[in-house]
Amino acid sequence: MKLIHDTGWATSPAAVEPSLTGDIDCDVVVIGGGGGGMSAALRLAEKGVDVVLLEAQTLGWGATSRNAGYITNSIAADPELLGFLLKRERLRNLYRYAENAVHFAEDAIAHHDIQCSYRQAGIVMAAVSKGQLRHARRNAKVMAEAGSSAEFVEGREAGLPDGFLGGVREGVGGTLNPGEFALGLRAATITSGARVYEHTPARDVTDSGGGVTVETPHGRVRARKALLTTNAHTTGLSIAPKNLATPVWTSLVETEPVAPERLDEIGWTSRAPMVTLHMIIENYRVTPRGTIVFGTRRVQTGRNPLPDRTPAQNVADDLVRGFRERFPGLRDIEPQQAWGGWIGMSSTWLPVAGEASDNVLYSLACNGHGFAQAQYVGHLLADRIDGVPLHEDLSAIWNGRKRFWPSLVSGPALHATWLADRASDRLAALTK
Ligand SMILES: Cc1cc2nc3c(=O)[nH]c(=O)nc-3n(C[C@H](O)[C@H](O)[C@H](O)COP(=O)(O)OP(=O)(O)OC[C@H]3O[C@@H](n4cnc5c(N)ncnc54)[C@H](O)[C@@H]3O)c2cc1C
Repeated sequence: MKLIHDTGWATSPAAVEPSLTGDIDCDVVVIGGGGGGMSAALRLAEKGVDVVLLEAQTLGWGATSRNAGYITNSIAADPELLGFLLKRERLRNLYRYAENAVHFAEDAIAHHDIQCSYRQAGIVMAAVSKGQLRHARRNAKVMAEAGSSAEFVEGREAGLPDGFLGGVREGVGGTLNPGEFALGLRAATITSGARVYEHTPARDVTDSGGGVTVETPHGRVRARKALLTTNAHTTGLSIAPKNLATPVWTSLVETEPVAPERLDEIGWTSRAPMVTLHMIIENYRVTPRGTIVFGTRRVQTGRNPLPDRTPAQNVADDLVRGFRERFPGLRDIEPQQAWGGWIGMSSTWLPVAGEASDNVLYSLACNGHGFAQAQYVGHLLADRIDGVPLHEDLSAIWNGRKRFWPSLVSGPALHATWLADRASDRLAALTK
């Protein structure tokens, strides 16, 4: 199995946009060109705003091109826990926001004619033990009460593989190739009228009250307003709110191609993309190239400045062990490659957007479920920065200028959670 630095989904862009040299002025500067930043720049350019987009690598280089490719209305925290902790109206607002984000991302694919093998088939939060199945029933109830279109399904009825007992099926969303999507959105952004600078990291952002200055290695941008869409990297900028996010490295493995009849034999007739109900999820999906991509399970924290890295060998091995346990009928299928990316975990495990200062807005709609949400929030923040009143979906995650509590996400806590998940697997195997 090859451990790779880049995304395994697509090749790097053939040509790179220029980096910034010298000083320039603009109306709005967007910092970070993932799905969130590109979507914001596209919206501003569409409105005729003079917008500059700065990206440390190439547009889409971060989590946007590296993720598992689920377009989902899931919110990172456990639905049952959310139902317990949040007022009913807040939860309804969050699910409405997340579902609208899915439709926004689908519209972007259609609008920009992005060829990324999108399959609108929903996803299943799947149970691999009786305990998880009971949890799934409770989650389905909480989600339905919150207005989500999710429903409880039995494993066979939903065409899930042997060993997956059932779960919560989200009717909206589906899967795509995120690498191809990122290349398509990048092309649309470059031709949109936004001024794009690649290989141009923002080193420092200051807000004088009258405007914002962004320092880069070989130049400076002066703008009326700025938007931080730098995901896990945001806390590397001193203007970012304290304790905004903990960077967490998440890994994926891709197998060699699997013959379709093998998938039918193990009962995966629906090919439904799945995430399990462990505390730290496992995800399994079939790709358009006939391989299986799976991931998460064991994650690691990092500190800014974040290294450009590959998955750790023991983490990739653990993922393969998990794959073989869940799919005993595919034990002979070999892993081919593994890659990963940084996600930003907010201290509440909920998506968040707000103001870092008078003229600087930020979003952190991630927590490992932000592929569609980051884009939608980028778009809504672009409107906000252009003077549009707070959209009801942005207000569902709006934090204003409040401080964040220190996060409970830490290396030891994540390791203990992984151990607890493995203990629950062992218990489930004993009580089968
Ligand atoms: C392995 C993995 C699997 C995932 N699976 C899923 C999934 O299946 N479904 C889902 O919904 N979500 C998933 N996610 C999460 C999802 O990918 C992210 O929530 C989403 O892509 C975040 O988009 P973004 O634009 O906010 O951030 P990113 O895509 O990370 O973009 C941030 C950009 O900012 C740039 N940058 C950073 N610092 C600076 C700076 N100082 N100056 C200029 N540029 C800078 C980076 O280079 C990067 O390109 C996954 C994430 C990972 C890593």
